[in-house]
Amino acid sequence: MTVPTIDTHEFTRRGDAAEGQVPLQELERLGSLLIARDGLLGWRLSGRSEVGADGSRVAHLHLGLASTMAMRCVRCLERIDVPLAVERDYRLVATEAQAEQEDVDEDEFDLLVGARRFDLAGLIEDEAIMALPPAPRHPDCRAPAVAVESGEAVSDVEPPPPARNPFGALAALRSGEDPGAADPSDDAPTPSPKRPPRA
Ligand SMILES: [Zn+2]
Repeated sequence: MTVPTIDTHEFTRRGDAAEGQVPLQELERLGSLLIARDGLLGWRLSGRSEVGADGSRVAHLHLGLASTMAMRCVRCLERIDVPLAVERDYRLVATEAQAEQEDVDEDEFDLLVGARRFDLAGLIEDEAIMALPPAPRHPDCRAPAVAVESGEAVSDVEPPPPARNPFGALAALRSGEDPGAADPSDDAPTPSPKRPPRA
């Protein structure tokens, strides 16, 4: 395995740092969401600990991920290379129960249950999966004309026509009224400076 297991207690107490690259082929769950697994996922981890206000030790981990993921564009179904960049800060807790109990009050950090043999590869894979866009799409996607005209490719991103028609009709009505409302200005085509009103 490319990614080592770590002792989160020692890692944070010593203020350790580690980094590496894991072949996407080694990450089965993540790989199943990609159309090519020939790349690498770069990771770096750093730990720190400090003494909290109550004298207890508070341990933190920071995880950074960087890669490019080969996914399928939901519009044209061709390959799209999605840049992946993750930066996450965690506060370590001792048990799952503690994580659940303290999660309510913690809004700055994600809570992570530490371990002597912590599955770092699992965490890296989880975070990468969560960072994947649910519906990747080329920003300038040139979908085949057939797909666009059939409506299949666009029907899921545009509101259904029945909901739009009332507003379209309303807009047409309003624009029809505008010329009448603007009539007075037509009588004075040249902009006139401010003049005192005549008695
Ligand atoms: Zn596309």
